Amino acid sequence: MSTGNREEFDVVVVGGGPGGSTLATLVAMQGHRVLILEKESFPRYQIGESLLPSTIHGVCRLTGVTDELANAGFPLKRGGTLRWGANPDPWTFAFSVSQKTASATSFAYQVERSKFDSILLNNARAKGVEVRERCAVGDVIEDGERVRGVTYTDPEGNGREIVAKYVVDASGNSSRLYKRVGGTREYSEFFRSLALFGYFENGKRLPAPNSGNILSAAFKSGWFWYIPLSDTLTSVGAVVRREDAGKIQGDQEQALATLIDECPIIKDYLADATRVSEGQYGQLRVRKDYSYHNTVFWKPGMVLVGDAACFVDPVFSSGVHLATYSALLAARSINSVLAGLVEEKPAFTEFEARYRREYGVFYEFLMSFYDMHVDESSYFWSAKKVTRNTHTELESFVELVAGLSSTEFALDDAESAALRFKTRSSEFADAVDDLVEDEENSMVPLFKSSVVRQAMQEGAQVQTHALLGEDAEAEAPMFPGGLVASTDGMFWQVSTES
Ligand SMILES: Cc1cc2nc3c(=O)[nH]c(=O)nc-3n(C[C@H](O)[C@H](O)[C@H](O)COP(=O)(O)OP(=O)(O)OC[C@H]3O[C@@H](n4cnc5c(N)ncnc54)[C@H](O)[C@@H]3O)c2cc1C
Repeated sequence: MSTGNREEFDVVVVGGGPGGSTLATLVAMQGHRVLILEKESFPRYQIGESLLPSTIHGVCRLTGVTDELANAGFPLKRGGTLRWGANPDPWTFAFSVSQKTASATSFAYQVERSKFDSILLNNARAKGVEVRERCAVGDVIEDGERVRGVTYTDPEGNGREIVAKYVVDASGNSSRLYKRVGGTREYSEFFRSLALFGYFENGKRLPAPNSGNILSAAFKSGWFWYIPLSDTLTSVGAVVRREDAGKIQGDQEQALATLIDECPIIKDYLADATRVSEGQYGQLRVRKDYSYHNTVFWKPGMVLVGDAACFVDPVFSSGVHLATYSALLAARSINSVLAGLVEEKPAFTEFEARYRREYGVFYEFLMSFYDMHVDESSYFWSAKKVTRNTHTELESFVELVAGLSSTEFALDDAESAALRFKTRSSEFADAVDDLVEDEENSMVPLFKSSVVRQAMQEGAQVQTHALLGEDAEAEAPMFPGGLVASTDGMFWQVSTES
């Protein structure tokens, strides 16, 4: 409905990235009127190119875009190859438990985000979402009780208003809209790094069948990502400590070349490559302060998904997973409330608890990753030794998941968190050592380690919903007295288990 410059929708979504388009699609599929306001004109550049299987085979299956992604020609990512930890040789982590048992869903893609995000946004349009590009949201409209809509500027520069039952902030890390849910944004001291990145043509590829893997290589000043985006195009980024910001100031071209020189495997892979100097990949870019979480994820009438709510370090490619997974959780909450199935408070409490838990799982997993690197002489790596640190980082982790009563997260103080972390991260490091020694390249020891099992668990659950639908087994609540997902994955419902 429209009166003057004010229109009404059921849901207005700010931002058309993976979080926004996924949420909008899942809500529009239930017959609701959904509008996405996106400030850029797509296709637009974004970092975050290495995906996880649960995004492709779980959430993207639920939004009905899997086949289109399969036909887009994105390189197949079977896992990650890492020069990381005690062993000087690279080792490979595969999404399948062993090469013999690789299934149709044990892979993800490496994507050019301009293409991937456009596919998702066009799919939202195809599923009934109205999408308006070059429309920048300025603020939310609220009264004392709840958020009631947004104000935005249209492509002609006119100020306009949307009134909606829900405002979804999926505007990523750069917008300030998230402040309107209240709370504060807490930046991680531990993951406080900077990334300097660019694109190369004709870099080397890992040997088959791992040529589509992300290659992550630790070196004295930090670590590199090396992501194949096509047969010839590679995304290359160096992550360094914030205290070493000086290393990437001044001439960035020279800075990247110097860092590459410090890392033998990346130097070798780029020996015959040239840096792309034109188009969307033509410039070097820097990102900093990118690991944070907000203390509040929703308030009546408004919810945060994706980077608007939280993000943690790119080492295990969890950003798009967390954005699309949180979009699925928030869509369930909105769908359930709009259908009158569940009250707003329990629906969004379930959303926030599950989202925080998944973020916490990755946070802990990534700390284990950093804890594993052994290079006594490097300041970057010794500063990243969690188990040797004071407990500040573990304290923030406890705060992060505080209030969650899941048995996995029954942490009541930093001491017990430290003990638990020490055991789990050494179990993880041992599993990696076994992996390096195992000629069959079986993933069993890795998948048995607690941090890996946890990190893969919820993604596997989402994939099960997407693949089996009505045939999926009823799940148990994640939290005592909590809600469970309906078998089609689109709603919350009260558990039939007592
Ligand atoms: C260095 C680095 C490397 C990374 N590598 C990976 C990786 O390998 N794999 C991975 O999965 N993730 C990675 N990430 C994370 C990934 O970039 C993000 O987690 C992901 O893009 C989040 O998706 P989103 O939908 O929440 O936000 P975005 O993708 O940022 O989308 C937000 C959208 O909102 C729009 N917008 C912003 N403000 C407004 C406004 N006021 N009005 C209207 N629209 C607005 C923006 O234009 C944008 O299109 C990396 C991040 C960093 C910093």
